[in-house]
Amino acid sequence: KKKNVPRIDPVSLAEDIKAGGRTALAKGITLIESNAEHDFQTAQTLLQKLLPESGRSIRVGITGVPGAGKSTFIESFGSYLCGLGHKVAVLAVDPTSSLTGGSILGDKTRMEKLARNPRAFIRPSPSGGKLGGVHRKTRETMLLCEAAGFDIILVETVGVGQSEVIVRDMVDFFMLLVLTGAGDELQGMKKGIMELADAVIVNKADGPNEQTAKKTKEEYNRILHFLQPATKGWQTAALTSSAVQEKGIEEIWETIRAFESFTKNSGIFDERRRLQTKQWLNDMIVDQLQASFFHHRQVKHLLPKVENEVISGSRPVASGVEELFKAFFEAKK
Ligand code: GDP
Repeated sequence: KKKNVPRIDPVSLAEDIKAGGRTALAKGITLIESNAEHDFQTAQTLLQKLLPESGRSIRVGITGVPGAGKSTFIESFGSYLCGLGHKVAVLAVDPTSSLTGGSILGDKTRMEKLARNPRAFIRPSPSGGKLGGVHRKTRETMLLCEAAGFDIILVETVGVGQSEVIVRDMVDFFMLLVLTGAGDELQGMKKGIMELADAVIVNKADGPNEQTAKKTKEEYNRILHFLQPATKGWQTAALTSSAVQEKGIEEIWETIRAFESFTKNSGIFDERRRLQTKQWLNDMIVDQLQASFFHHRQVKHLLPKVENEVISGSRPVASGVEELFKAFFEAKK
């Protein structure tokens, strides 16, 4: 006989999350990550209950190419912050998970030490499901972690594709981890990504690499000076760190603290968060419109015909689009 799956009560779950229950937090995140339609309302009720308790954290994004040392750095940095008495949540945005089901960041053996720290909470990237699903879920998960009392949220992402932009749009402070000996790479590095960063960290500044790292840092500082800063009035600077030897960690935290007080005093902090929420709303509207458009019965029916017509050159593209939109708005689902 099939047992009824017990329904989740979002009101009591919200209370448990606020009380700091880790099982409750994990359960809440699973609910948010669920692609099942019947979980959607429950998850929204949960979020509604927790919204007033959210927002009281500093949100830090960390990006860098695979091998730059992100997970090693987060392990050191996170442990350091826990040692100061903070509660640290580590989330990941892995753009590959929604495409392949696999994950660049998903390796479970990473950050073992931090994972055992009772003041830390680590959550791997959700698998996407829908287009735009990963970052919606990560944003909601961030709110849950804040309501659970985590005052520092670290969001890790791989430096591929659009994921840096996505993470930049959900954090207060964004840092780019880079490596030394990358003189050519530095020249060729997209200006774009450096212009997203509030700090550039030259990692692995240890052993024989330490002097090179210092030189690389200076080179970055020279270049950064000519770039548009990611945050108005804040000069993005390069720093060095050794995630392995736990060097430079304190200075990085001081930089973030200085950034926080600067942006809070100038109003930029709150302004950015308002804009991010507006952007989030906008993104979700676009995602949902897109999904409902392409799932629409009439649209699905007409699309192959219209595609053939425009590809063969017998019809202008805009005219094909117009027909599809007419079908979308007029025909019942
Ligand atoms: P990720 O792919 O960006 O998460 O990089 P990892 O954290 O997995 O690090 C990649 C490799 O670099 C691993 O072998 C680490 O041990 C090494 N590594 C990371 N940080 C440092 C560092 O500060 N110094 C040195 N020497 N090695 C490091």
